[in-house]
Amino acid sequence: MLFPYVYVPHPMEILKHFLDFIFYEVWCKAPVSGSYRFALFDDLPELKELMETFHYSDTKGADFFNGHVERIYEIFSNLTQEQIALLASWYGANNEVEKICCNDPSIETVRYSDLEDFHPELAGQFSKFFKGLYSLLGLSDLKAKTGNIDDHYQAFMTKNISGKCPFCGIHDVKGVYHRNREAYDHYLPKGVYPFNSINFKNLAPACHECNSSYKLTKDPAYNPKDPLLTQTNGKRKAFYPYAANSHKIELNLKLKCRDWTDINPLDIEMTFGPEELKEQITTWDDVYGIQERYKAKCCGENDGKYWIEQVLDEWREDDRKPDDFLKALSRNTEKKPYAEANFLKVPFLNACKKAGLFDNL
Ligand SMILES: [Zn+2]
Repeated sequence: MLFPYVYVPHPMEILKHFLDFIFYEVWCKAPVSGSYRFALFDDLPELKELMETFHYSDTKGADFFNGHVERIYEIFSNLTQEQIALLASWYGANNEVEKICCNDPSIETVRYSDLEDFHPELAGQFSKFFKGLYSLLGLSDLKAKTGNIDDHYQAFMTKNISGKCPFCGIHDVKGVYHRNREAYDHYLPKGVYPFNSINFKNLAPACHECNSSYKLTKDPAYNPKDPLLTQTNGKRKAFYPYAANSHKIELNLKLKCRDWTDINPLDIEMTFGPEELKEQITTWDDVYGIQERYKAKCCGENDGKYWIEQVLDEWREDDRKPDDFLKALSRNTEKKPYAEANFLKVPFLNACKKAGLFDNL
């Protein structure tokens, strides 16, 4: 990704706190706590109150939540301490989103496919519960406690004001002046990883193209089909959407064509740097189809071809030399790299210059 988001704290985070309590204090203690009852939630009165409200609610969502908490409790009450310790370590690991993105060797994540081998019935219940949780965020009883996801989006975009999708940099994301909002992507897919579907460190708004056309259910942290990742069993580094430190991706382009009016993606060679981010960049390109999309943009009538025309027109009409144009553009890009796709426009026009496109008028 081109730049990280700023993480914005919000009352909705309490849901993660509720789930932590349910997992560690209720489910993990099931073998020694006796029969299932609301008193199990005494130590977290806000959660207890919510579960009691759900109990008397006639909404499907409330029933779904309480029913799963109880059913999973029953399964836990028959597990061994070794099994519970393993589940607790997986729960903790799957919520360490930043460490997973760094491919921290101390983190042993679990996927639904692993849970199936471990305990098929529990895997089935976890799958329904954690995949369904996200859609419960709109429940009125819950919204009264935590605000809703639209409030979160407003607060989020008040701090993250770039207006551009950080995953691609070429599309806009809706901000505080839009009535609608972008969808939140489960960065580590909720269909692959249990336990982190309402962890806001794993939820990041993305443009529709990034989320729904390219990433889909691709897993940024794992690609067992990549032969280059055999040494790490398919695990790989990925950019963490809320990294504290920003980074700078270098984009280098080379052009093979002389006739820019006929430019196509095969004429463009694209490489990325710096070397120390190579693994994260490879993952980013794989998950979001970056090269394909950037090359397509460079070949677009109203993008790359227009950028070239701009240089040529200013040369022809106003006698402004391409070098002067590029110098001013580079200065603007230093200040505003994501305005008008400057971060891509500059290396593209530099490549055009090197290929001799601006040698003769
Ligand atoms: Zn995007």
